[in-house]
Order: sequence, then structure tokens, then C-alpha cells
Amino acid sequence: MSHVFHRSLNTSYPLAVGGDGPYLIDAGGKRYLDACGGAAVSCLGHSDAAVIAAVQHQVATMAYAHSAFFTSEPMEQLADFLVARAPAGIDSVYFVSGGSEAVESALKMARQYFVEQGQPQRRHVIARRQSYHGNTLGALATGGNAWRRQQFEPLLIGVTHVSPCYAYRDQQAQETDGDYVARLGRELEDNIAALGAENVMAFIAEPVVGATAGALPAVHGYFQRMRDICQRHGILLILDEVMCGMGRTGSLFACEQEGVTADLICVAKGLGAGYQPIGAVLVSHAIRDTLRAGTGFFQHGHTYIGHATACAAALAVQQQIEDRDLLDNVRAMGQLLQERLRQRFGEHPHVGDIRGRGLFLGLELVQERTGKRPFEPARRLHARIKTQAMQAGLMCYPMGGTIDGLHGDHILLAPPYIIDARHVDEIVDRLGLAIDACLAP
Ligand code: PLP
Repeated sequence: MSHVFHRSLNTSYPLAVGGDGPYLIDAGGKRYLDACGGAAVSCLGHSDAAVIAAVQHQVATMAYAHSAFFTSEPMEQLADFLVARAPAGIDSVYFVSGGSEAVESALKMARQYFVEQGQPQRRHVIARRQSYHGNTLGALATGGNAWRRQQFEPLLIGVTHVSPCYAYRDQQAQETDGDYVARLGRELEDNIAALGAENVMAFIAEPVVGATAGALPAVHGYFQRMRDICQRHGILLILDEVMCGMGRTGSLFACEQEGVTADLICVAKGLGAGYQPIGAVLVSHAIRDTLRAGTGFFQHGHTYIGHATACAAALAVQQQIEDRDLLDNVRAMGQLLQERLRQRFGEHPHVGDIRGRGLFLGLELVQERTGKRPFEPARRLHARIKTQAMQAGLMCYPMGGTIDGLHGDHILLAPPYIIDARHVDEIVDRLGLAIDACLAP
């Protein structure tokens, strides 16, 4: 029996021993097409020679230097690279080791900003239901994933949750996008008023919701409206692009497609593509200037922030994406994958919605399409699809609780940016086999 405290204590996992482009290979030689990048991580696949060389070079040269003593070339270069391509107003980057750390850091940075700016009463965070911002206590409290929160509720700080922008279920039949956005805007305004606008610190949202709602983009104009409301009340906008950022949706930052920028942007996953653990918070000049003119430091930190080897890996990943025009491929293959999914599942009696952007796509499963009735949670359809897909040699990311944390099932797809049309067909074929095997009468 394994001495590893695995994620699931009653599951025996295949032993992964190798990677070959978009495939992972187990000890028996079976190849799995990685159509979800694990959890939207492995955007360059599993054997990128340039990234491997960059990691090897950095480990051999100077693997790690604690950031309280030194800066490093990879960290400086990666910050320059990101800021040069970031949305307007961003001018520095705080490096961490993953997505939850990025969200925790952003929350604390928002709080310290207001303390130093002379508004210490600003302490409330507003987030959305059906969102995920990480598993550490602050990030978990911020997320609106009811199932993940439930047993830890007594440990969580109070966060106000408003509705997600979930057109498939919540936009009413007669409601235009504009009406729907206006309704969600009023809800945010009402919550701000209830808390007292002068007490609210930040509004946080995923531009395209990932694992909790299944690649769910907002309707046109939603983020601009939320941004306007925040600005009017002096509330910071934190965008969590941990899953949807770094090219996943076809633009380097997902918010570019919304026409908004933010005060703090969290990224991770696709930043290092799994070659090293790394995350980051992109910070507006207003926040950095306030802290610089105030105490002069951010009262936070972890041992591995700005890890030189992690930064070298991420820099190489980002250079590969840019030098090989991989975002063009994300857009082209994303469109093709979406077309193929619609051909294969568009009339499927149990696929209610196909959605997403770029190579970040979701299928929402329903018992019957007209009433959008979900399957019984006890059926654990999502878990069975994952098992069937693995048997068929396909990694996808099914999840339950799509609607409210308990009801609903979806399948998230987030394949590497390097896939071609043959991989697209393979994904759709194998996914079809897995879904049909689980839903056969
Ligand atoms: N934020 C979002 C949107 C995520 O999807 C995730 C992870 O799935 C996180 C935060 C947490 O990231 P990590 O698992 O790297 O801590």
C-alpha cells in the first residue's frame, strides 16, 4: 500500500512515467490524450524541449535565491515580459507558487492598500456564487463553491456572494443581454449599498469561470458594467485568471476580450504550464505607488516567492507561446473543437449547453434539454465519465455541482495549445465513447 496521502484515499491511480506532446504515458505504456491539461495547466504539453532546457540551465546555474536577500534574472525578465503585455495600468508583478497563493496575496494586497491609503474601514470582499478561487482559507472563503466550502464554513471569513453571470440558466427568456447585465449590476449595487460602499474593499471574479461552472463566459458588457460600478465606489476589481488566463481563451489575458482591465490580476496554471509550480499577481501602479510611499513593503511573503527556476520555466513557456504564435492555434483549434463538439453533441439528448472560449470549453449535461433538468447528484455522472474517459485514454475534467454546488454536471476541456486537427477528432471521439457509455439506457 502506498505511503502517499493521495487526493482520494480509496483510488488507485495509474503511475505516470512519461510525457509526449499532448499525451501522458503510464507505466504500462498506455497513452492518455491530455484534453484538460490536468486542471488547465499543461498548455505546452508534456515534453517541450525549450522549456526543459531552460529549467535545466537555471537549476545548474542558480536554482534558488531567497527573495529577501536577492533578486534574480529570471524573475526580473519574467516581470518585464508580463508587464509589457499586460492590460493598461499594470506595472509590477508579485510572484508566488500557485493559484491559491496568488488569490491570498491579492486579497491581502487590496487590504493593505486601503490601510495605507487612509481607508482602513474598507474590509469587505464581494465575490460570486459558483466560482472557485483556491483552497487556502482566504481563497476558499472568497470562492462561491458551496460544496468545497461546506465543512470548513466555521473557519471562513465572511464574504458576500452575488449571482454569477450564467446565461444558460439565469437569463430570462425575454431578457436581452443588456437587461440581464443591468439586473446583475443592480444586484451588485444593492449589495454594495447594504455593506456601505465605503466599507467594501474588492470585487473578485473569474472572467471565464473554470472548474466550478464549466468554462462559463459572461455575456457581452457584463465585465464593463461591473468595472464601472467598482470604479464609481472606489472598490478594487480583482480578476482571477488563474485558470482562464495566459492564453487559454485565445488572448494572453482573458479580460482583453471583455475590454476591461483590473487593479489586480491573478494568474498561475498556464504561466508555468506545469514545468514548475508558479503563480503571480499583476499589480496596478496605483497600488504599488501607495505601498511604496507608505510602509514601503508588502506585509506578506512565502519562502518560494519569485523562485528562480520557476520563473525561468515560466519565461521559457511564455516565450514559446509567443515565438510559435500559439495563440493563433488556440483560436483556430478552439473554433474547430467547438464545431466538432456541436456536430457530435449539438443534438445529444443529454448535452444542454456547449460553451467557452478558445481552448477552454465546457459541456453542461442534463437529464432532459427542454426543462434543463439536471441528473440526480447521487448518480455521480461526472465521476463516472472521468473513469470511462481514462479507460478510453482521454483526460478530461468533469465536475458536479455546476448549478448550485450540488446539482448539475459538466465536462471541462482545456487541451494544450499545441494540438492539431487530429487531436481534436480524437478528443471528440473518445469523449463521445465515454459519455455514451455512462448514459446508455
Ligand atoms: N483560482 C482559480 C480560478 C482556479 O481555477 C484555481 C485552481 O483550480 C485556483 C484559483 C487555485 O489554484 P491552485 O490550485 O494552484 O492553488
